[in-house]
Amino acid sequence: MPHNGQTCEQSGIYKPSCGCKEIALSKGEAFPPCGDHGPTEWSLVQATQ
Ligand SMILES: [Zn+2]
Repeated sequence: MPHNGQTCEQSGIYKPSCGCKEIALSKGEAFPPCGDHGPTEWSLVQATQ
């Protein structure tokens, strides 16, 4: 799973491992840390174009 700070390789909806709100991220953007919990990993929920 991508960690915060890594570059997104697949645009899509991502869910943080801490269980917080899902985010939409575009290819080329960096995965953010969770606003509440800091460093987190992100799992792809649904790919988008
Ligand atoms: Zn969180």
